[in-house]
Amino acid sequence: VSDAEAEVKKEGGKEKVEWVENDNIGYFIKKKLRVWCRLSHGVWGYGTIQSTSGEESFVSLSNGNVVKVSTSELLPANPEIVEGVDDLIQLSYLNEPSVLHNLKYRYSCDMIYSKAGPVLIAVNPFKDVQIYGKDFVTAYRQKATVSPHVFAMADTAYNEMMNDGANQSIIISGESGAGKTETAKFAMQYLAALGGGNGGIECEILQTNCILEAFGNAKTSRNDNSSRFGKLIEIHFTTLGKISGAKIQTFLLEKSRVVQLAAGERSFHIFYQLCAGAPPTLRERLNLKMANEYSYLVQSDCLVINGVDDAKKFHMLMEALDIVQICKEEQEQAFAMLAAVLWLGNISFQVIDNENHVEASADEALTSAAGLMGCAPQELMQALSTHRVQNGKDSIAKKLTLRQAIDTRDALAKLIYASLFDWLVEQINKSLEVGKRCTGRSICILDIYGFESFKKNSFEQFCINYANERLQQHFNRHLFKLEREDYESDGIDWTKVDFEDNQECLDLFEKKPLGLLSLLDEESYFPNATDLTFANKLKQHLKANSCFKGDRGRAFGVRHFAGEHQLYKLMHQLENTTPHFIRCIKPNCKQLPGTFEEDLVLRQLRCCGVLEVVRISRSGYPTRMTHQEFAERYGFLLLETNVSQDPLSISVAVLKQFNVLPEMYQIGFSKLYLRNGQIGALEDRRKQLL
Ligand code: ADP
Ligand code: MG
Repeated sequence: VSDAEAEVKKEGGKEKVEWVENDNIGYFIKKKLRVWCRLSHGVWGYGTIQSTSGEESFVSLSNGNVVKVSTSELLPANPEIVEGVDDLIQLSYLNEPSVLHNLKYRYSCDMIYSKAGPVLIAVNPFKDVQIYGKDFVTAYRQKATVSPHVFAMADTAYNEMMNDGANQSIIISGESGAGKTETAKFAMQYLAALGGGNGGIECEILQTNCILEAFGNAKTSRNDNSSRFGKLIEIHFTTLGKISGAKIQTFLLEKSRVVQLAAGERSFHIFYQLCAGAPPTLRERLNLKMANEYSYLVQSDCLVINGVDDAKKFHMLMEALDIVQICKEEQEQAFAMLAAVLWLGNISFQVIDNENHVEASADEALTSAAGLMGCAPQELMQALSTHRVQNGKDSIAKKLTLRQAIDTRDALAKLIYASLFDWLVEQINKSLEVGKRCTGRSICILDIYGFESFKKNSFEQFCINYANERLQQHFNRHLFKLEREDYESDGIDWTKVDFEDNQECLDLFEKKPLGLLSLLDEESYFPNATDLTFANKLKQHLKANSCFKGDRGRAFGVRHFAGEHQLYKLMHQLENTTPHFIRCIKPNCKQLPGTFEEDLVLRQLRCCGVLEVVRISRSGYPTRMTHQEFAERYGFLLLETNVSQDPLSISVAVLKQFNVLPEMYQIGFSKLYLRNGQIGALEDRRKQLL
């Protein structure tokens, strides 16, 4: 919290400079221009300044109240003409309250999409907004509308792929519950409509969502349908732009959820769907009970989701499995593995000697699990109650304590589930492979969960946050490059804008030999390593890195790092594509429509780098208009009549007449670039005359 506060102060400081440069309070009072002021409860209000006595000012708010605020914290508000603009870059003032107000205003009119320069911002509506039907697909295809939309972004990606032959990526990020997976589905839906008509492969692609969600999603405290894995779907096209195949890669499945649940959360949907929806013959063959009879599922006191019919979902799942050509026999084998996992969780242990060693009880749970796994109960009992240790050439069986036996049982359950998930993805990919290799043109869509931080963070959070750190860098670097290219292609001087990179944080993870990953790798080879020795080692070597916090006695599970492959390959793959970024924003934590919590939104805008994009633009020339647009809007203000009639001459004459200083603007080949706040006076004059 203190970091965030400091940032607001820093930002505030910058605005103060903007404020002074743009003339002064007298001007704002005289012209009754709107300002933002921070109210005691942490939200912003806007109004006009009544009077000022240096450090303090009285502001008359739009609701009629008058408040006393510190003058140095007043920020200029935007003129009404830019209320609710499509693209935040069009705002004359880009301070945080202005950005927030704009998004909130749009949200209240169900305009959930906005642009921040090249980035698409999507604010989760938590209700059906009627903007995804066939009519909308057609409108975006025919370019009948240009309002920001995930369809518009998918359309751009498709056209760039067709025109430039370059592969594209749509990278969707945001917190849990922000709407990433839904957005990814809408992007797929649009691409399927565009590239469809090739033997129904597009329908198959859309059906994969149902399967992956059943096996990879779960109800969490933040999202009733939270994806517990990352997903990259690659859609391949022919030279004519028709879909020829697809491939899915998954990352970082949260397999611990199979054995351990937080209160109020559920395990993966498929378990409840199977228990509720399996037809009688299948139930009998799997010796399947209802969900409330399985320990893995009852531990969290949450078996159903409001408004969700698990049995119905199971029937939809079976249809989807048929569509991706997984045969009935294989489907049943997959269900048998799920039942085996559930029965494993019911296996209990009893103490067998005075050293507290245990043995699995020979009961229904053991027999059922063994039967489903295709082994004898005795073999499973042996596997869960002993641990084989290599002793020279021989191996001997050591007995286990209760804790060790439970860990062994849970590890087996997790392994079975994760392998089943991988197998499913492999089967889906086989069925989507048709004709895939004909052109190599593709668009991939990445839906990966955002940074996570809980009271207790495990290795899973470590991997997720590292993945996000890499993506953040990809995002920063790409946008920075775009901004520079825009200036350069229009012949504008490019003075380096200072730009925050997260390289130091990545170094903390990646540096060899002294980075978190290398040290973790090394420590996992030491037989006597513990959480404490590892923590001490990290403190010893990494304390100089400003991204390392050594004082908190963190515990890491020490094991061989298995997530590192995946990620490099993913990043490499993405670096060879033209990226399109979508930032999903969660407007409240209660999954409610019509509720926009300003501080929650602001925190997300800050940490996902959207405000950084805005900041980069602000330190340059945020107002951009073509010569034509400028001349059309302000040309009539010219008093001087002896000006040649081309748009550029008119524009320059207007700027001179209004005493806009030469360092406040640049003239590009096609556009005028103006520093912040330069068009305010022109707009005022325009308003007076119209
Ligand atoms: P994430 O993948 O970011 O965790 P989801 O995509 O699962 O979040 O979205 C969470 C919930 O929010 C969805 O189940 C749905 O109810 C709602 N939602 C998200 N995006 C939209 C949208 N564009 N229109 C309507 N509802 C949405
Ligand atoms: Mg999701």
